[in-house]
Amino acid sequence: MILETLAAVFVLVAVAAGTTLVARALLRGPVQSAIRCGCCGAPADSLTSFTCQVCGHDVRDVGLRAAVARSPAARFYKAIAVTLVVMLLAPMSVELLRGIVPQTRYSHASQSMYPSGFGGFEAIELDCKMAESGGEVSGRMIADLSMPTGRMHSMEIAIPTRKCWTIDEYGQRREREMFSELVLREWMKEAGVDDGDKAVSDGISQLHQEMQHVMSESDGPAPRGMRPSFSGGSSNSSSTQPAQWLRPVVMMFWAAFWLIALAWTMRDRALPPATVEAAA
Ligand SMILES: [Zn+2]
Repeated sequence: MILETLAAVFVLVAVAAGTTLVARALLRGPVQSAIRCGCCGAPADSLTSFTCQVCGHDVRDVGLRAAVARSPAARFYKAIAVTLVVMLLAPMSVELLRGIVPQTRYSHASQSMYPSGFGGFEAIELDCKMAESGGEVSGRMIADLSMPTGRMHSMEIAIPTRKCWTIDEYGQRREREMFSELVLREWMKEAGVDDGDKAVSDGISQLHQEMQHVMSESDGPAPRGMRPSFSGGSSNSSSTQPAQWLRPVVMMFWAAFWLIALAWTMRDRALPPATVEAAA
Protein backbone atom coordinates (compact mmCIF):
# COMPACT_ATOMS: atom_id res chain seq x y z
CA MET A 1 0.00 0.00 0.00
CA ILE A 2 2.84 2.40 0.93
CA LEU A 3 4.71 1.26 -2.16
CA GLU A 4 1.64 1.87 -4.36
CA THR A 5 1.29 5.44 -3.03
CA LEU A 6 5.01 6.04 -3.50
CA ALA A 7 4.79 4.76 -7.09
CA ALA A 8 1.77 6.99 -7.84
CA VAL A 9 3.58 10.09 -6.49
CA PHE A 10 6.74 9.12 -8.39
CA VAL A 11 4.83 8.74 -11.68
CA LEU A 12 3.01 12.09 -11.16
CA VAL A 13 6.29 13.89 -10.48
CA ALA A 14 7.89 12.23 -13.53
CA VAL A 15 4.94 13.21 -15.77
CA ALA A 16 5.10 16.83 -14.49
CA ALA A 17 8.88 16.95 -15.02
CA GLY A 18 8.63 15.34 -18.47
CA THR A 19 5.84 17.69 -19.58
CA THR A 20 7.85 20.72 -18.41
CA LEU A 21 10.89 19.39 -20.24
CA VAL A 22 8.96 19.00 -23.51
CA ALA A 23 7.20 22.37 -23.14
CA ARG A 24 10.51 24.12 -22.61
CA ALA A 25 12.08 22.29 -25.56
CA LEU A 26 9.16 23.36 -27.78
CA LEU A 27 9.39 27.00 -26.66
CA ARG A 28 13.13 27.05 -27.25
CA GLY A 29 12.58 27.27 -30.97
CA PRO A 30 15.03 26.05 -33.59
CA VAL A 31 18.68 26.14 -32.68
CA GLN A 32 20.56 28.76 -34.66
CA SER A 33 23.03 27.04 -36.93
CA ALA A 34 26.10 28.56 -35.44
CA ILE A 35 29.06 27.93 -37.77
CA ARG A 36 32.34 27.43 -35.96
CA CYS A 37 35.94 26.65 -36.79
CA GLY A 38 36.34 22.86 -37.09
CA CYS A 39 39.60 22.95 -35.18
CA CYS A 40 39.18 25.32 -32.22
CA GLY A 41 35.45 26.15 -32.28
CA ALA A 42 35.89 29.93 -32.74
CA PRO A 43 32.76 31.51 -34.29
CA ALA A 44 33.01 31.66 -38.04
CA ASP A 45 31.53 35.19 -37.98
CA SER A 46 34.93 36.48 -36.99
CA LEU A 47 36.56 35.06 -40.11
CA THR A 48 37.85 37.70 -42.47
CA SER A 49 39.74 35.18 -44.62
CA PHE A 50 40.10 31.37 -44.84
CA THR A 51 42.60 31.55 -41.98
CA CYS A 52 41.12 31.26 -38.49
CA GLN A 53 42.21 34.20 -36.39
CA VAL A 54 42.23 32.12 -33.20
CA CYS A 55 44.10 28.94 -34.11
CA GLY A 56 45.66 29.99 -37.41
CA HIS A 57 44.45 26.95 -39.37
CA ASP A 58 42.99 27.20 -42.83
CA VAL A 59 39.29 26.41 -42.46
CA ARG A 60 39.40 24.76 -45.89
CA ASP A 61 41.64 22.10 -44.27
CA VAL A 62 40.07 21.72 -40.81
CA GLY A 63 36.47 22.28 -41.90
CA LEU A 64 33.60 24.12 -40.27
CA ARG A 65 31.25 22.80 -37.58
CA ALA A 66 27.58 23.53 -37.39
CA ALA A 67 25.10 22.99 -34.53
CA VAL A 68 22.09 21.24 -36.00
CA ALA A 69 18.91 23.21 -36.19
CA ARG A 70 15.99 21.30 -34.57
CA SER A 71 12.49 22.50 -35.15
CA PRO A 72 9.80 22.45 -32.41
CA ALA A 73 7.72 20.12 -34.61
CA ALA A 74 10.53 17.54 -34.78
CA ARG A 75 10.90 17.70 -30.98
CA PHE A 76 7.14 17.29 -30.51
CA TYR A 77 6.97 14.14 -32.67
CA LYS A 78 9.99 12.69 -30.87
CA ALA A 79 8.31 13.27 -27.49
CA ILE A 80 5.13 11.55 -28.78
CA ALA A 81 7.16 8.60 -30.11
CA VAL A 82 9.02 8.13 -26.80
CA THR A 83 5.72 8.28 -24.86
CA LEU A 84 4.02 5.74 -27.16
CA VAL A 85 6.92 3.30 -26.88
CA VAL A 86 6.83 3.50 -23.06
CA MET A 87 3.04 3.10 -22.98
CA LEU A 88 3.35 -0.01 -25.13
CA LEU A 89 6.28 -1.61 -23.31
CA ALA A 90 5.18 -0.90 -19.69
CA PRO A 91 2.06 -3.16 -19.65
CA MET A 92 3.91 -5.81 -21.68
CA SER A 93 6.73 -5.93 -19.13
CA VAL A 94 4.24 -6.32 -16.24
CA GLU A 95 2.65 -9.32 -18.00
CA LEU A 96 6.05 -10.80 -18.75
CA LEU A 97 7.31 -10.44 -15.15
CA ARG A 98 4.10 -11.94 -13.77
CA GLY A 99 5.16 -15.25 -15.26
CA ILE A 100 8.63 -15.06 -13.69
CA VAL A 101 8.10 -13.53 -10.24
CA PRO A 102 6.72 -16.00 -7.67
CA GLN A 103 3.01 -15.61 -7.08
CA THR A 104 1.17 -15.60 -3.78
CA ARG A 105 -1.73 -17.92 -3.23
CA TYR A 106 -4.30 -16.68 -0.73
CA SER A 107 -6.71 -19.15 0.76
CA HIS A 108 -9.60 -18.82 3.13
CA ALA A 109 -11.42 -21.71 4.77
CA SER A 110 -14.28 -21.58 7.19
CA GLN A 111 -15.94 -24.46 8.89
CA SER A 112 -18.88 -24.77 11.27
CA MET A 113 -18.72 -27.80 13.56
CA TYR A 114 -21.70 -28.86 15.69
CA PRO A 115 -21.34 -31.69 18.24
CA SER A 116 -23.53 -34.63 17.26
CA GLY A 117 -24.42 -37.17 19.92
CA PHE A 118 -22.82 -35.21 22.75
CA GLY A 119 -23.26 -31.87 24.48
CA GLY A 120 -21.05 -29.50 26.38
CA PHE A 121 -20.95 -26.72 23.82
CA GLU A 122 -23.12 -25.40 21.00
CA ALA A 123 -20.71 -25.05 18.13
CA ILE A 124 -17.20 -24.23 17.12
CA GLU A 125 -16.47 -22.09 14.06
CA LEU A 126 -13.06 -22.28 12.39
CA ASP A 127 -11.83 -19.48 10.18
CA CYS A 128 -8.43 -19.91 8.56
CA LYS A 129 -6.62 -17.46 6.28
CA MET A 130 -3.30 -18.37 4.72
CA ALA A 131 -0.90 -16.98 2.14
CA GLU A 132 1.61 -19.19 0.35
CA SER A 133 4.52 -17.83 -1.67
CA GLY A 134 7.60 -19.76 -2.79
CA GLY A 135 6.84 -22.64 -0.41
CA GLU A 136 6.47 -20.31 2.61
CA VAL A 137 3.10 -20.44 4.31
CA SER A 138 1.88 -17.86 6.79
CA GLY A 139 -1.53 -17.16 8.22
CA ARG A 140 -3.88 -17.27 11.14
CA MET A 141 -6.68 -19.48 12.33
CA ILE A 142 -9.44 -18.32 14.62
CA ALA A 143 -11.70 -20.75 16.46
CA ASP A 144 -14.88 -19.37 18.02
CA LEU A 145 -16.47 -21.53 20.66
CA SER A 146 -20.17 -20.92 21.39
CA MET A 147 -21.41 -22.07 24.76
CA PRO A 148 -25.06 -22.95 25.61
CA THR A 149 -25.07 -19.83 27.84
CA GLY A 150 -24.64 -17.74 24.68
CA ARG A 151 -21.11 -16.76 25.62
CA MET A 152 -18.31 -16.81 23.09
CA HIS A 153 -14.68 -17.79 23.63
CA SER A 154 -12.04 -17.47 20.95
CA MET A 155 -8.68 -18.97 20.18
CA GLU A 156 -6.19 -17.55 17.71
CA ILE A 157 -3.35 -19.62 16.26
CA ALA A 158 -0.47 -18.25 14.18
CA ILE A 159 0.64 -20.29 11.16
CA PRO A 160 3.20 -21.83 10.86
CA THR A 161 4.55 -21.10 14.38
CA ARG A 162 1.41 -22.47 16.17
CA LYS A 163 1.69 -19.64 18.69
CA CYS A 164 -1.60 -19.47 20.45
CA TRP A 165 -3.76 -16.87 22.19
CA THR A 166 -7.19 -17.11 23.75
CA ILE A 167 -9.78 -14.40 24.16
CA ASP A 168 -12.34 -15.01 26.89
CA GLU A 169 -15.98 -13.94 27.07
CA TYR A 170 -14.91 -10.53 28.45
CA GLY A 171 -12.49 -9.90 25.62
CA GLN A 172 -9.43 -10.61 27.76
CA ARG A 173 -6.55 -11.78 25.57
CA ARG A 174 -4.07 -14.26 26.94
CA GLU A 175 -1.00 -15.89 25.44
CA ARG A 176 -0.89 -19.67 25.71
CA GLU A 177 1.65 -22.37 25.02
CA MET A 178 2.08 -23.70 21.47
CA PHE A 179 -1.14 -25.08 20.08
CA SER A 180 -1.67 -28.73 21.07
CA GLU A 181 -4.51 -31.01 22.05
CA LEU A 182 -3.72 -30.28 25.69
CA VAL A 183 -3.92 -26.49 25.20
CA LEU A 184 -7.20 -26.91 23.31
CA ARG A 185 -8.62 -29.13 26.04
CA GLU A 186 -7.59 -26.74 28.83
CA TRP A 187 -9.08 -23.78 27.02
CA MET A 188 -12.41 -25.60 26.46
CA LYS A 189 -12.52 -26.73 30.10
CA GLU A 190 -11.97 -23.13 31.22
CA ALA A 191 -14.85 -22.09 28.97
CA GLY A 192 -17.07 -24.61 30.79
CA VAL A 193 -16.91 -27.73 28.60
CA ASP A 194 -16.92 -30.85 30.82
CA ASP A 195 -14.54 -33.36 29.20
CA GLY A 196 -15.12 -36.01 31.88
CA ASP A 197 -17.61 -37.64 29.50
CA LYS A 198 -15.89 -39.94 26.99
CA ALA A 199 -17.96 -38.69 24.04
CA VAL A 200 -16.93 -35.09 24.81
CA SER A 201 -13.29 -36.11 25.26
CA ASP A 202 -13.31 -37.93 21.91
CA GLY A 203 -14.97 -34.92 20.34
CA ILE A 204 -12.15 -32.62 21.53
CA SER A 205 -9.56 -35.06 20.11
CA GLN A 206 -11.34 -35.00 16.74
CA LEU A 207 -11.60 -31.21 16.86
CA HIS A 208 -7.85 -30.99 17.47
CA GLN A 209 -7.17 -33.27 14.49
CA GLU A 210 -9.45 -31.18 12.33
CA MET A 211 -7.78 -27.91 13.31
CA GLN A 212 -4.32 -29.41 12.63
CA HIS A 213 -5.54 -30.66 9.27
CA VAL A 214 -6.90 -27.26 8.16
CA MET A 215 -3.69 -25.48 9.18
CA SER A 216 -1.35 -28.04 7.59
CA GLU A 217 -2.73 -27.77 4.07
CA SER A 218 0.26 -26.09 2.47
CA ASP A 219 -1.57 -25.06 -0.67
CA GLY A 220 -4.76 -24.03 1.06
CA PRO A 221 -7.33 -26.06 2.96
CA ALA A 222 -9.20 -28.57 0.86
CA PRO A 223 -12.86 -29.48 1.44
CA ARG A 224 -13.30 -32.71 3.31
CA GLY A 225 -15.86 -34.70 5.23
CA MET A 226 -16.69 -33.94 8.86
CA ARG A 227 -15.12 -35.86 11.71
CA PRO A 228 -17.61 -38.48 12.99
CA SER A 229 -18.50 -36.62 16.21
CA PHE A 230 -19.51 -33.48 14.33
CA SER A 231 -21.97 -32.19 11.79
CA GLY A 232 -21.81 -28.95 9.90
CA GLY A 233 -20.41 -27.48 6.74
CA SER A 234 -17.33 -25.88 5.31
CA SER A 235 -16.41 -23.45 2.57
CA ASN A 236 -13.10 -22.81 0.87
CA SER A 237 -11.84 -20.22 -1.53
CA SER A 238 -8.46 -19.32 -2.90
CA SER A 239 -6.96 -16.88 -5.35
CA THR A 240 -3.52 -16.44 -6.84
CA GLN A 241 -1.97 -13.02 -7.22
CA PRO A 242 1.43 -11.80 -8.36
CA ALA A 243 3.72 -10.25 -5.77
CA GLN A 244 2.25 -6.96 -4.50
CA TRP A 245 5.41 -4.98 -5.19
CA LEU A 246 5.62 -5.94 -8.89
CA ARG A 247 3.28 -3.35 -10.41
CA PRO A 248 4.46 -0.25 -8.47
CA VAL A 249 8.14 -1.11 -9.05
CA VAL A 250 7.60 -1.61 -12.80
CA MET A 251 5.58 1.66 -12.97
CA MET A 252 8.42 3.60 -11.31
CA PHE A 253 10.98 2.02 -13.62
CA TRP A 254 9.09 3.06 -16.76
CA ALA A 255 8.38 6.57 -15.44
CA ALA A 256 12.12 7.05 -14.87
CA PHE A 257 12.91 5.51 -18.26
CA TRP A 258 10.45 7.85 -19.99
CA LEU A 259 11.92 10.92 -18.30
CA ILE A 260 15.51 9.98 -19.19
CA ALA A 261 14.54 9.13 -22.79
CA LEU A 262 12.76 12.51 -23.11
CA ALA A 263 15.74 14.42 -21.70
CA TRP A 264 17.95 12.53 -24.16
CA THR A 265 15.83 13.26 -27.22
CA MET A 266 15.05 16.88 -26.27
CA ARG A 267 18.68 17.91 -25.85
CA ASP A 268 20.48 19.99 -28.48
CA ARG A 269 23.49 18.38 -29.96
CA ALA A 270 26.13 19.63 -32.29
CA LEU A 271 26.79 17.78 -35.49
CA PRO A 272 30.18 16.12 -35.86
CA PRO A 273 32.64 18.35 -37.71
CA ALA A 274 31.70 18.62 -41.34
CA THR A 275 34.10 19.72 -43.97
CA VAL A 276 32.79 22.68 -45.83
CA GLU A 277 34.00 23.03 -49.36
CA ALA A 278 35.01 26.60 -49.54
CA ALA A 279 35.17 28.30 -52.83
CA ALA A 280 38.71 28.02 -54.03
ZN1 LIG B 1 40.28 27.92 -35.38
